[in-house]
Amino acid sequence: MQTKTVHAAGELGLIRWIARSVDKNGRKKKSIVGIGDDCAVVPIGKRLCLLTVDALIDGIHFSQRWSSPEEIGRKAIEVNVSDIVAKGGYPVYALVSLIIPPTFPLKKFQGIYRGIVSAAKARDVEIVGGNLSRGRQLIIDISLVGFVGRKNVRLRSDAKPGDLIMVTGNLGDAAAGLELLRKNTPGFAPLKSKYLKPTSSGGKVKGFIRYIHAMEDISDGLAAEAMHICEQSKVGAVLYPKKVPLSPGLRKASRLLRKDPLSFALFGGDDYELVFTIPSSALPRVKGFVVGQITRKPGIFLSGGNISRPLRKHGFEHF
Ligand SMILES: [Mg+2]
Repeated sequence: MQTKTVHAAGELGLIRWIARSVDKNGRKKKSIVGIGDDCAVVPIGKRLCLLTVDALIDGIHFSQRWSSPEEIGRKAIEVNVSDIVAKGGYPVYALVSLIIPPTFPLKKFQGIYRGIVSAAKARDVEIVGGNLSRGRQLIIDISLVGFVGRKNVRLRSDAKPGDLIMVTGNLGDAAAGLELLRKNTPGFAPLKSKYLKPTSSGGKVKGFIRYIHAMEDISDGLAAEAMHICEQSKVGAVLYPKKVPLSPGLRKASRLLRKDPLSFALFGGDDYELVFTIPSSALPRVKGFVVGQITRKPGIFLSGGNISRPLRKHGFEHF
């Protein structure tokens, strides 16, 4: 008999199994949100504390072939910041755990750490500790702690039927940038830079966060994030492919790569824009791009003209 692997279970299957196991633990929950959102949300005094952790692994999440040590370090902080700002919060403290092969060049190690420090400084994050361990490949595992006022917290679970689904900026650039780097294609600096030097998008929603119902950052493609929101809010969605904002650079690169630019936007990763839902009445007061609508009917559909087809592929799958 063949042994079932984690690959066969799939990322979502594993998360569901973990959530059930944690629930069976039987302790009374003090958290407001546990497993299943960008961050855990726990009450501390009058404020809410946001907790998130993300590991970047050499060869899986980055490659030393095209990322400089500093870029790797900066990205490790920024992707965690993105999860905190996606909950309406601000980051405060970081723990940095590094697993390093003993033969790893010291200069590169220092470069990575300098990147971590400079990104942390730019985001007003204090590095308060961490861990060093030896291992077969380089892994940068950062835990970030942030805060958010109770009124400002935005979860995946608050989307309402009829809400418009919006995004803060162009999608797909980073995924196309990565493919161009992999194929050693010259040019397309803005797309490559979006992949190598991502910036979290919290500032883009600051002025109108009070109108936002559900929110999440886009790390694994719009389709996957829309599915998270729908699952957690127990709703469905229709996405309008023609309204997804695509940059001219992405369109040009897609022609060269012989791919549909929309596939980068829907199923690519590393955009770190935000996707959020608002009641349609708030639209005049909100900045961004409408890319779909929340429906009562479950499932995610792509609407094109009169045809609505169910969306089966769901973004980056970690296993
Ligand atoms: Mg996230």
